[in-house]
Amino acid sequence: MLATAITSTHCPYCALQCGMNLRPTEDGGVDVVERTDFPVNRGALCGKGRTAPAVLSPSVRLTGPLVRDRATGRLEPAGWEEALRAVADGLRRTREAHGPDGVGVFGGGGLTNEKAYALGKFARLVLGTSQIDYNGRFCMSSAAAAHTRAFGLDRGLPFPLEDIPRTGCVILVGSNLAETMPPALRYLTELRENGGKLIVVDPRRTRTAEHADLHLAPRPGTDLALALGLLHLVVAEGRVDEEFVAARTSGWADARAAAMSHWPALVERVTGVPVPLLREAAALFCDAPTGMVLTARGPEQQSKGTDTVGAWINLCLATGRAGRPLSGYGCLTGQGNGQGGREHGQKADQLPGYRKLDDPAARAHVAAVWGVDPDSLPGPGRSAYELLDALGRDVRALLLMGSNPVVSAPRAAHVEERLRSLDFLAVADVVLSETAALADVVLPVTQWAEETGTTTSLEGRVLLRRRALTPPAGVRTDLEVLHGLAGLLGWEKGFPADPEEVFDELRRASAGGLADYAGISYRRIAQEDGVFWPCPDAGHPGTPRLFLDRFATEDGRARFVPVTHRAAAEETDAEYPVVLTTGRVVSQYQSGAQTRRVAELNAAAPGPFVELHPRLAERVGVAEGDPVAVVSRRGRAVAPARITAGIRPDTVFMPFHWPGEGRANTLTNPALDPTSRMPEFKVCAVRLEPARG
Ligand code: SF4
Repeated sequence: MLATAITSTHCPYCALQCGMNLRPTEDGGVDVVERTDFPVNRGALCGKGRTAPAVLSPSVRLTGPLVRDRATGRLEPAGWEEALRAVADGLRRTREAHGPDGVGVFGGGGLTNEKAYALGKFARLVLGTSQIDYNGRFCMSSAAAAHTRAFGLDRGLPFPLEDIPRTGCVILVGSNLAETMPPALRYLTELRENGGKLIVVDPRRTRTAEHADLHLAPRPGTDLALALGLLHLVVAEGRVDEEFVAARTSGWADARAAAMSHWPALVERVTGVPVPLLREAAALFCDAPTGMVLTARGPEQQSKGTDTVGAWINLCLATGRAGRPLSGYGCLTGQGNGQGGREHGQKADQLPGYRKLDDPAARAHVAAVWGVDPDSLPGPGRSAYELLDALGRDVRALLLMGSNPVVSAPRAAHVEERLRSLDFLAVADVVLSETAALADVVLPVTQWAEETGTTTSLEGRVLLRRRALTPPAGVRTDLEVLHGLAGLLGWEKGFPADPEEVFDELRRASAGGLADYAGISYRRIAQEDGVFWPCPDAGHPGTPRLFLDRFATEDGRARFVPVTHRAAAEETDAEYPVVLTTGRVVSQYQSGAQTRRVAELNAAAPGPFVELHPRLAERVGVAEGDPVAVVSRRGRAVAPARITAGIRPDTVFMPFHWPGEGRANTLTNPALDPTSRMPEFKVCAVRLEPARG
């Protein structure tokens, strides 16, 4: 490793994409120092970002390819030529035996835009398969679907974060950003310092909820009813912005009728939130001159996530809190490139530029950029969980990049079993994750500080991560891996390894699409600290604020969607009387593949736990720290009890960062939202048992 000068770049982890400087160290590595000139975090970082260089150490990462020895069954060191040839042979063999759709590709929301683009192109051109999706489907796809349905376009935040402190009231739904993206908390504290109000909706009294003027704690899976109840009160109390509704929206009559069947007493019964608190929330939101609703995984990771987000959007539209300065609905995207990763073609139904794979014009445009016949492009494939569920049956070989579904997928024991049943599995990753450990071939790839590429933050701001040091000799970039595999599979051209060359092609492929990057270049990002899409040409200033004049629908109006409450896919009963909800803690990230290898983070968050209310703990017969078994229809997990009055007595919480006995996703329900195909991570029925001895 050889670093020579301070490099300005961005964090490898979450969608806030905090700016950071990397400074060379005497041992040839880098450490992280403040980068105060980047406006989003102004130098602040959480522990994950600060300690990110620890994963660059050869002691915790992969430093050379591994190929499974057929005789011993063990992964053994191999050269790159042998490893790439083994992958190409495995994919080719399966394709010949089972057809193009016998081969699957699974990507990740942490991959740069260039990698996500190249992976989608590789799947459709080189493999000819429709079977590609990615773990971002588990992250925010319901918000994306609701956004598109209402506004005609999906960008997580249609305004920059800097607008939040200047709005009048924020309703934050199912987001614990004090733990998931701590530097963003300042936007909420500044909001309150400016006199604005903060309402937090969460079944737990989280660190974020501690900052709220009003905390509403609905039973998990009922926030759709909560949003409808608030809209009912807005109508009943004459607080609808009739002028805005008439001028800028369509579909209000049906949405209004749907909301009116959710009267406050009913909503209290469904959600557990008392009517006076519902009235207080509606009044706070309507009394403020401007307002925002921000959602995260809470309302989104449900089998009715699209409708739940739609109900919150309806509340914004009815009160005129959309398409105006300092007002609107936004989704706080989770993964590092959760936004860009969903725009450029690694989704089952998508082509670059947020184009639809089943749109003939979109196919023609992208096929022209790729130099192929549009008819040669496969159609839409399966969503992420459906793809994982099909492994070993219809899909017999898988190429996986930047994802660890053995820990992060719902019904994880089943997913692990499906992965094991494959004829061939190749994984490209920086560490030997739980999923990589199952592979026939493991390809070690470079990390954020060792490569250049773009990400798109939760604001829709396209950013440049820069290479700061030379990677170890035994690793390659994901783009080099795809370049090498494409060559072995007969595509000598079309898969460059240079990220800027890939980005320039992505710009052309996205031109004219919803997520139009045509006017964004590496040089420009560097000069302007990021460029907000859409940006259709080099002279365009970028678009920090969307929808101020018109929404992106055909008629320019936002669409109300009539939605009604319905139960979670799995309700509690006598056998499984408690609701399990899952989430994250401040010192670990997603499946923990990287952060569990950082000593400082492990010291702060060493393992899983089961958070439960004192009354529930007493009923189950466990004390603080006792091992408690959580059992669902899909399996059993055991972790120490963490007892707190800050959670509903009918609900338990488990973080999902760990494998093994305490794996929360052993329990979760893969019931899918019918529109977004998002699994219901946030709600399933469980029972609790002491697990002593
Ligand atoms: Fe990195 Fe997110 Fe932490 Fe910022 S908040 S340092 S982007 S993990």
